[in-house]
Amino acid sequence: MKVGVLALQGAVAEHARALRAAGANEVVSVKRVEDLKDLGGLVLPGGESTTIGKLMRKYDLMDTVREMAVSGIPMFGTCAGLILLAKRIHGEDYSHLGLMDIEVDRNSFGRQRESFEVNLNIPVLGEESYPAVFIRAPHIIEAGAGVDILCEYDGRIVAAKQGNLLGASFHPELTEDIRLHHYFIDMVARQKSAS
Ligand code: GLN
Repeated sequence: MKVGVLALQGAVAEHARALRAAGANEVVSVKRVEDLKDLGGLVLPGGESTTIGKLMRKYDLMDTVREMAVSGIPMFGTCAGLILLAKRIHGEDYSHLGLMDIEVDRNSFGRQRESFEVNLNIPVLGEESYPAVFIRAPHIIEAGAGVDILCEYDGRIVAAKQGNLLGASFHPELTEDIRLHHYFIDMVARQKSAS
């Protein structure tokens, strides 16, 4: 199973480590269109969504990544990666990949709580709570009917899934708990056996 991590900015090595620990036997850093070849899944890491979006356009990655997602290849966007996946960005007239039927609010947790860690209840991961690190995190304001809400915190949606697309407001690569990466690797494995 070969999984890619978009490597234009952000916590690439941490995602790669978690993906390997969760069962991916090959993890590649994606910087160019050629790197997307034969990937069974792709992680879009955190960082700064405007910068990552610009670099994706500069390196001509946008269309190919979009086509891969439409063809059913699982994608996992974390923090800025969630913003990249969203169809709508609150207060803006642009989107990036525009794949997931959600509206996100960037930097929505306020200044005094720009970064924090909290234990979340994510039912699809089991009963044990999940330690989540939020860094200038977005949240999902609105989700379409086809979107499954996986987790809410403080009355805000912070993790969701729509078919082959998985998104989280927080940084699952920054803790030792690999259950969310495991959940994604299961999505990749299921897609592979179905195709
Ligand atoms: N707030 C950032 C953005 O809008 C995302 C922050 C993060 O990925 N840690 O892109």
